[in-house]
Amino acid sequence: MREPKEKPAAHGIRHGDTVKVMAGRSKGKSGKVLSVNLWKSTVTVEHANIIKRHTRPNPSKNIKGGILEREGPIHVSNVMLVCPGCGKHTRAGHTTLPDGAKVRTCRRCDTTFES
Ligand SMILES: [Zn+2]
Repeated sequence: MREPKEKPAAHGIRHGDTVKVMAGRSKGKSGKVLSVNLWKSTVTVEHANIIKRHTRPNPSKNIKGGILEREGPIHVSNVMLVCPGCGKHTRAGHTTLPDGAKVRTCRRCDTTFES
């Protein structure tokens, strides 16, 4: 386990959230968050920032060579959460409920994100 260099930050974005890409090659695309890298503050978003990986065949590991397409990492500052309530891109606010549970909420319409 690597130690984080700084406090891990993903700006409230979690695995499974729907986000919109705001900058870069896949600007304007939205999709589900496939993975979050807290240490690098990057996320991979389905169908966004597709990169081509050229792999060499490695018969001993049963890897076929060729060009593999997969989602590349995008910095969290380049994506924004899409609110399930109002459908707009938003920042996540944090609210503490009366029972002490912390939830993420839409700053536009106060919809609570399931978490
Ligand atoms: Zn909203």
